[in-house]
Amino acid sequence: MHPTQLDTRLGRRHLTVEPITADDDTIAAHLQQLSVPALIAAVVQITGDPGWLRGPARPREFVQNEFQGKMTAAELAELRAGALRAITSWRDAGCPWAEPPGPELTREIIDWIACEPVAEDYAELYAEEMDLAGDNPRAIGLAPGEVPAGFSVLIIGLGEAGLLAALRLQEAGIPFEIFEKNDDVGGTWYENSYPGCRVDVASHFYSYSFTHTDQFSDYYARQPELHRYFRGLLDEFGIAEHVRWGHEVTRARWDEDTATWQVSAVGPHGRSETRCAPVLLAGVGFLNRPLIPDLPNLESFAGPVFHAARWDHSVDLAGKRVALVGAGASGFQIGPAIVDEVAELTVFQRTPQWMAPNPRYHAAVGEGERWAMRALPGYSRWYRFMLMLQSSDKMLELVRAQEDWPDFPRTANAASAARRAVFADWIADQLAEDPQLADRVTPDYPPMAKRMLQDNGSWLRCLKRPHVQLVSETIRDIDADGIVTDSGRHDADVLVLATGFRASEVLAPMEIIGREGLSIGEVWDGKPAAYNGISVPGFPNLFIFSGPGTGLAHAGSVMFMTECQMRYVGAALCTLIENGHRSIEPTEAAYTRYRDALQAEVATLMWGHPSIEHSWYKAADGNVYVLSPWRSVDYWRMTRGIDPADHQLT
Ligand SMILES: Cc1cc2nc3c(=O)[nH]c(=O)nc-3n(C[C@H](O)[C@H](O)[C@H](O)COP(=O)(O)OP(=O)(O)OC[C@H]3O[C@@H](n4cnc5c(N)ncnc54)[C@H](O)[C@@H]3O)c2cc1C
Repeated sequence: MHPTQLDTRLGRRHLTVEPITADDDTIAAHLQQLSVPALIAAVVQITGDPGWLRGPARPREFVQNEFQGKMTAAELAELRAGALRAITSWRDAGCPWAEPPGPELTREIIDWIACEPVAEDYAELYAEEMDLAGDNPRAIGLAPGEVPAGFSVLIIGLGEAGLLAALRLQEAGIPFEIFEKNDDVGGTWYENSYPGCRVDVASHFYSYSFTHTDQFSDYYARQPELHRYFRGLLDEFGIAEHVRWGHEVTRARWDEDTATWQVSAVGPHGRSETRCAPVLLAGVGFLNRPLIPDLPNLESFAGPVFHAARWDHSVDLAGKRVALVGAGASGFQIGPAIVDEVAELTVFQRTPQWMAPNPRYHAAVGEGERWAMRALPGYSRWYRFMLMLQSSDKMLELVRAQEDWPDFPRTANAASAARRAVFADWIADQLAEDPQLADRVTPDYPPMAKRMLQDNGSWLRCLKRPHVQLVSETIRDIDADGIVTDSGRHDADVLVLATGFRASEVLAPMEIIGREGLSIGEVWDGKPAAYNGISVPGFPNLFIFSGPGTGLAHAGSVMFMTECQMRYVGAALCTLIENGHRSIEPTEAAYTRYRDALQAEVATLMWGHPSIEHSWYKAADGNVYVLSPWRSVDYWRMTRGIDPADHQLT
């Protein structure tokens, strides 16, 4: 289809439902699988009757990874029976248009599901995220035809952030072009094709707020499906024709005379190409440059060696002895995925990770739930709300450092100690027969102080297998045949480096040169910072996605953060276009104030505490520059628009 024929509006697509044709018995069977609170929210919409919320059967406690509000079996059965009657009547009436709940009723449902009155700012955020009326509140607010000739945007990178930018710019009618170093869309979800790779934030939240989410077959989608999700949007909206595939941007320089960014990229066969545009969006990701650790004599290993993010699919692991270096987020997924195949698996663990018990982590979305997401108005939105409610900010207090806490720094505070007990029991219960192993895999730092993992028991089941060995000693040497530690040699045929990324080297290795002729690396000098995590004085019209101070370590979805960032970018573009300005950037004072406030807040949290070792959250100097210490609702508020007092316009 030619792009001009595409409906590029993102507004109401997430609300479309398909007519119900299923018979009563099938519907009744489907309802058994559903979250009853989300089901009742949908029933309120199709009946228009808030009475469903006002009876005695109601969610009584909102608990993480639990979707029934701790209602009794009798209450659930009663609500399901009522819902069945309502849904079959609606079906028999031909599934007429069901008016989404208005603001007051939405608020009532939010409080009903949350089991408490939700604070006003959060309620507003949740309502916006669900967008039950299809108002498309995060669209760039330009009137058609407002974009002046010559105005355009250049995007670097086509991961989820670059794609979001492209979709929003296209919707607003702003011309754009994209340089992408890979040959395909998806970034993280294209490059990380290692066995077992999947998201560990629930997919129905780790997805754009404006897309339908019935397409995920697992609650935590696997990499190929996530890649298909992004690819599907790329194709549907005709974004590919704006992309220079296989072009790696090496340098971008602001030209004050023309008020444009001159952007140089190296394309296939090493050919250089330069493009200029008034606005530059950097969507290069913060986990895109693999970290190859400085292991002694790594090059002398005779067999294949590869990083998890550069998985060598030509290497057949069947019957091989595999050394897996790293037991963090990637290693934790790789081990269980390859354990059945390999002859031996030796896992080298520097520090153990905390993992949260989550029965849905590897679970398929049931047919009933997928049906509800397709057929029941609002069901998928309310399910998304429940996920957001669970992951929004509730964890932040767990990492608040309370230095006078008696168990500090093993735990951070009383809430941290309580959570530690739950997580430690989860480990101990699985390893009751091997307390020594339990000791070695139980962290001695507070939960959430380093990257938290989701777990359904597969990791410890893997470590317990007879052909698996966990080595928690320093790697002293590597030779042709394996890895040497203090306890001896560990022979291996293949070496997999699940060793993470250069997260603190923001925008590297690109050279981004601002108005004063300094590169952004020189300005930062190893201490990256940005106003709202997005923009930097002296670098006009440059906007960074997932920039300094935006990483999420207290749960939540990066895709929510990039939607916030795009909202701010859209507001900045409107400011430029509507007022005929050439450039926008934060003032030095606003930047400094924001940076200092952020660092002061980070200092109250455990992530940068000296007791925390080997954490990718920390930069080489031991400080944390990449994470957001803000509540998601605060970041959402900060990025909702442009504060003129904080910006310099030319
Ligand atoms: C294995 C793994 C699992 C993760 N799981 C989760 C999760 O469960 N939940 C969560 O919230 N986050 C998760 N993340 C973080 C994840 O990176 C973000 O959620 C998100 O995908 C980042 O999107 P992005 O577009 O900002 O960056 P990326 O996905 O990294 O995409 C950046 C794109 O920019 C391109 N690029 C980079 N440099 C250049 C250049 N110089 N020139 C041209 N193109 C360039 C890259 O090729 C890439 O396509 C995970 C990360 C990894 C690595």
